[in-house]
Amino acid sequence: MAVLVTGGAGYIGSHTVAELIDAKEEVVVVDNLSQGHRQALLGGKLYVGDIRDADFMETVFKENDIESVIHFAAYSLVGESMQNPAKYYDNNVYGTQRLLEIMKKYGTKRIVFSSTAATYGEPQTVPIEETAPTQPTNTYGETKLSMEKMMKWFDAAHGIKYVALRYFNAAGAHHSGRIGEDHSPETHLVPLILQVPLGKREHVSIFGDDYPTEDGTCIRDYLHVSDLADAHLLALERLRSGGESSVYNLGSGKGFSVKEMIDVARKVTGHPIPAVLEPRRAGDPAVLIASSAKAKRELNWSPRRDNLEEIVESAWNWHRQHPDGFTE
Ligand code: UDP
Repeated sequence: MAVLVTGGAGYIGSHTVAELIDAKEEVVVVDNLSQGHRQALLGGKLYVGDIRDADFMETVFKENDIESVIHFAAYSLVGESMQNPAKYYDNNVYGTQRLLEIMKKYGTKRIVFSSTAATYGEPQTVPIEETAPTQPTNTYGETKLSMEKMMKWFDAAHGIKYVALRYFNAAGAHHSGRIGEDHSPETHLVPLILQVPLGKREHVSIFGDDYPTEDGTCIRDYLHVSDLADAHLLALERLRSGGESSVYNLGSGKGFSVKEMIDVARKVTGHPIPAVLEPRRAGDPAVLIASSAKAKRELNWSPRRDNLEEIVESAWNWHRQHPDGFTE
């Protein structure tokens, strides 16, 4: 009996695979390696291919007894999704449809899904609860919401139970220092800040300082990637013990501004990290902070690595040891 992890060679996927391996689960990974890295896998059996490829997925399901799925495979860049919505609908929405179809065919009844705070759009109140309205401000968030909705109707029709985990901002790296964040192109704040002390860029950009926050820069809720990973195992346990389909926010409940994040990185790295003010980035809400009370209550989940300096330090440890990221 195996857990299939789609997109398991990506950033959050690979950290989840690491936790599953530690928990002695049998793991099968499907990844087309468009963003993922072979070396990011600390275990599991890798099939290189695309979730939209029905013949390929047949092989995976035929060769393994898949009892549950954890679904990460998706595109996730807000900016790109606004330029090229078709790419996002095709991989994210249609890809999920194909995955649910093959799960139905093989009788796999559980799926844990990698969703996002981008499903909410500009929040009316913070911290955001799961009952908040979902009005995505970008195509990426809209496709993730569509994927959640699709799961709801596959549950109603075919009894496939799902847990959607709406992540806030993942950061940090595995304690071993062997795996971490490596996107191409890199768009996320923490790795971009750390590229300065690595000598890969002269300065970090601050996208807008005229937001209605104390220092004018955007506030986000940063969470250690291994804490996110843990939540997937707890969600799986919930489904295995007969839990109903549900949606959970995952965040620390604390917000830090872009300027505060740069200051933390200065402290951790001992580098002055020059910052340059630039215009706002389209689609950025001013403040995103999660209420994770529901995940605490129902999944018994709470972040264990909740010191921001330690989160940034773990990222720094990874980047320092792998200045060029993974080599394949
Ligand atoms: N950001 C920034 N400079 C950068 C990259 C990001 O000021 O070079 C800001 C971005 O506008 C947002 C926050 O940092 O307010 C976090 O951005 P990121 O892309 O890491 O995550 P998001 O919140 O978009 O998922």
